[in-house]
Amino acid sequence: MSRLDWQQATVTAIRPETPRVKTFTLALPAFTPHLAGQHYDLRLTAEGGYQAERSYSVASPPEQTGEIELTVELIADGEVSGYLFEGVAVGDLLAVRGPIGGYFVWPGAAGAAPLLLVGGGSGVVPLMAMLRHRQRVGLRVPALLLLVVRTPEDAIYHAELEAMAQADPAFTLVLSYTRQAPAGWAGYQRRPDAPMLAEVLARLPPSPQCYVCGPTGLVETVANTLQASGLPPTAILTERFGPTGR
Ligand SMILES: Cc1cc2nc3c(=O)[nH]c(=O)nc-3n(C[C@H](O)[C@H](O)[C@H](O)COP(=O)(O)OP(=O)(O)OC[C@H]3O[C@@H](n4cnc5c(N)ncnc54)[C@H](O)[C@@H]3O)c2cc1C
Repeated sequence: MSRLDWQQATVTAIRPETPRVKTFTLALPAFTPHLAGQHYDLRLTAEGGYQAERSYSVASPPEQTGEIELTVELIADGEVSGYLFEGVAVGDLLAVRGPIGGYFVWPGAAGAAPLLLVGGGSGVVPLMAMLRHRQRVGLRVPALLLLVVRTPEDAIYHAELEAMAQADPAFTLVLSYTRQAPAGWAGYQRRPDAPMLAEVLARLPPSPQCYVCGPTGLVETVANTLQASGLPPTAILTERFGPTGR
């Protein structure tokens, strides 16, 4: 079976992450180890035969074999995210194929460059696979995640990321809240801009490899600003989620 063949995955767990985000664990009859950052295509078929297909990044690390976790944000009027969010239960079958994508991936080899990860909203999902992989294989390459969210309740994986940062001095978590920050928050409260990116870059050793994922506007601003700061284009990998990203 090729990784581009469709297979029927069984939903074995559904975990709420935020009020608008759920993680689905899918057991795969034919599991192919993915690279952190890759995605699966998911296809829904209605009774009349109408089909809708969307891409979802793998949230789990490659070391979690036999299954993948997909983390899905509910989009207003979203055809596929709406169905997954409201209509899918443990035990259901879902058609998926993958892993797909050879560009926005972090192989995570020893001696890798420092990692700058910038995620907006559900754009954190493939970055989380990279961080989980880094943790599972015990790599101590310096890493910083700048996570940009609207409000505290939109921060996906927040508790796990905080615990990771507490346990690992080589990993730094930086949050920016664009609409509403927690009470007493002294950190960033805006969209990423040149001063913010200069500050986070200064917290990493030089010449990082950068992965930027999220809504198109955020990805373009961050990638352009990083390039203007002197990083080579090859050091800046981007993935766009959302309406103009497909
Ligand atoms: C490589 C890749 C990986 C992806 N990984 C993930 C992932 O891990 N988790 C995840 O939740 N999504 C991910 N996405 C986005 C996902 O594929 C869908 O686009 C998303 O779930 C919306 O699909 P839908 O059918 O619910 O909405 P649609 O029915 O396609 O769209 C409904 C309306 O919402 C607008 N819209 C669509 N997407 C967005 C958006 N992201 N933000 C705001 N408005 C939107 C559309 O323009 C339309 O007006 C990924 C996309 C790509 C290309």
